[in-house]
Amino acid sequence: MLNLVLFGAPGSGKGTQSAKLIDEYGLYHISTGEVLRDHIKRGTELGKIADEYISKGNLIPDDLMIKILDDVLDKEASDKKGVIFDGFPRTIPQAEALKELLQKRNTDLHAVIGLEVPEEELIDRMIRRGQETGRADDNLETIKSRLDVYHNQTHPLKEYYTKEGKYIPINGSGIVDEIFNNIATGVEKATGAKRRTH
Ligand code: AMP
Repeated sequence: MLNLVLFGAPGSGKGTQSAKLIDEYGLYHISTGEVLRDHIKRGTELGKIADEYISKGNLIPDDLMIKILDDVLDKEASDKKGVIFDGFPRTIPQAEALKELLQKRNTDLHAVIGLEVPEEELIDRMIRRGQETGRADDNLETIKSRLDVYHNQTHPLKEYYTKEGKYIPINGSGIVDEIFNNIATGVEKATGAKRRTH
């Protein structure tokens, strides 16, 4: 199995690069943000709770988020070649939980790809995405809270995974395909994984 975390600030290109990684490595994609947005769209109880946090740019509490991920792994990912985690973990307790969730399934986390993008570019990208897709939390006020949350709660994971020898820094500015090639080279070097031949 190949389990990867795609790590980076909101707007750093995690969704875009995940789509390419799935294609090249045949992995299952779990975006916790998409899982939550789907609940909101369907009007489920969980969606109502999640909306309270997401609309303010805050994180869903760890216990709840970890339980949601555990369920998704059971239902969707058990027979796959591996998983790309996009938007999870976002806190140290979530990183500890991920380790346990993978150990419980007799597997491990193999690498963390860190997409590094300057802050002004992140803001520009999210504003543009908000205009193009209508995504509700891509407005300037919520973007600013999300970036604060990222710096305070999520960014410490870079050091956490660097200490574990799993962090692969990638320059996330520039052309999508070039960024992807740098990711693929980094993943291959770190894990020995091979891309699909087309
Ligand atoms: P994303 O699509 O990854 O940018 O996530 C959108 C929003 O969903 C975030 O701003 C959080 O409110 C919530 N969210 C997504 N993933 C997590 C997570 N791992 N922990 C807590 N909240 C999350």
